Amino acid sequence: MAHAIVTGGGIVGLNVALALQSKGFSVTLIEPEAVRTGASYGNAGHVAIEQVEPLASMAMVRSAWRRLYPRGALGLPAKAVGHWLPFSLGLLKAASPQRFARGKAALSALIAQAMPAWQRRVVDIGAPDLLRQDGHYVVWETPASAAAGLKSWQSSDTGDARFHVVTEDELSELRRITTANIAGAIRFENTGQIADPARLLATMEAKFAERGGRVLRERVARVGDGVVVLTGGETLIADAVVVSAGVRSKPLLEALGARVPIVAERGYHIQSKAHGWPDGLPPVVFEDRSMIVTGFEGGLRAASFVEFAGVDDPPDAGKWSKLRKHVTALGLPFGPVEDAATWIGARPTFPDYLPAIGRLKDKLWYAFGHQHLGLTLGPVTGEIVADMIDSGESPMAFSLQRFGEHFQ
Ligand SMILES: Cc1cc2nc3c(=O)[nH]c(=O)nc-3n(C[C@H](O)[C@H](O)[C@H](O)COP(=O)(O)OP(=O)(O)OC[C@H]3O[C@@H](n4cnc5c(N)ncnc54)[C@H](O)[C@@H]3O)c2cc1C
Repeated sequence: MAHAIVTGGGIVGLNVALALQSKGFSVTLIEPEAVRTGASYGNAGHVAIEQVEPLASMAMVRSAWRRLYPRGALGLPAKAVGHWLPFSLGLLKAASPQRFARGKAALSALIAQAMPAWQRRVVDIGAPDLLRQDGHYVVWETPASAAAGLKSWQSSDTGDARFHVVTEDELSELRRITTANIAGAIRFENTGQIADPARLLATMEAKFAERGGRVLRERVARVGDGVVVLTGGETLIADAVVVSAGVRSKPLLEALGARVPIVAERGYHIQSKAHGWPDGLPPVVFEDRSMIVTGFEGGLRAASFVEFAGVDDPPDAGKWSKLRKHVTALGLPFGPVEDAATWIGARPTFPDYLPAIGRLKDKLWYAFGHQHLGLTLGPVTGEIVADMIDSGESPMAFSLQRFGEHFQ
């Protein structure tokens, strides 16, 4: 039986590991955290099949100054200029109309498979209730932002996702969770939510182990062609090695000469256990505040911010304060905000806002860089990687070759 090693067990690595098992591989998953604390845990739980347009666009570039922190959610800390400046230059290039059109075609094709792949995955792990396909709301608080926001969604490509302006019943549902003025709102109908990211990750890993998968609570120091070296020095050999360590994939692959211009696009959340969010209410995006609020089994979570910085730079506590202020200003049923748990984590983001999925060497593959869409794209990515390794053929659309030097 062929043996595969998967390096990193976030939402992407776990999906790769399960998909490889279903192709008949014996799989070892190397993941240091028994209970995950990274992006795959701290995200907003939204299966965002409406986001088929890469964020690297001229519209995004033009609106950047308006979105700057503290007015908006875009954090470019002065100390982190060495991280965000090269990234911004790369983004500018990637936002050209030709590259945007190419990226959109590639991302749309991937997103079109995202929900069916999720449906297969939750059935496969015996937990269909983890996926809710009940849409989400987008809310605006002023007539001007409501008119502009609605127009913007109406002129955007949202792939297979459908939405409508909220009905009176839906408006009443929203009025139960906020005391703020709702000047306008739309309801996406067929986007999704994961009921609880922590339960999802635990269930996937348990299923993987139940099927004979081996989990090593170790950290990978180096990878090579069919080789993994752990930080303790032990060397493991496999027929296929997959690097899926999120933003920390960069040093592993750059050591082999690959160009990996990824940045830590850090997000923040606060989460309250005791709250009054109605059961089953889908996520609500407060677009004027760039904040999404999601009711999970583990608590009510408000998430925001795109802060470009070093992955291990200290957090900016002002961003949690801002989240508390938003929650209070909206009168959300959050419980005492000062008691809410705080979290920071990094989206793994390339300047063109496309993932990296491909092959670096004969027995070395990679899957990371899913930016704002890693939860959405985890299952389809797993299936693609397992197909690539099984067939030996790697599609070019998401190859690291788009950034230059590449070795195989
Ligand atoms: C605030 C916020 C909200 C978000 N909301 C959404 C959303 O609603 N919908 C959506 O689709 N996406 C969302 N995202 C994005 C999504 O969370 C990420 O794209 C996704 O979690 C990335 O998954 P990953 O498995 O690639 O990386 P990670 O979750 O970072 O997992 C990588 C894993 O690799 C392990 N690892 C690291 N280094 C090593 C090593 N050397 N050896 C072994 N293991 C290692 C880590 O321990 C970790 O468990 C959000 C992100 C943030 C920050």
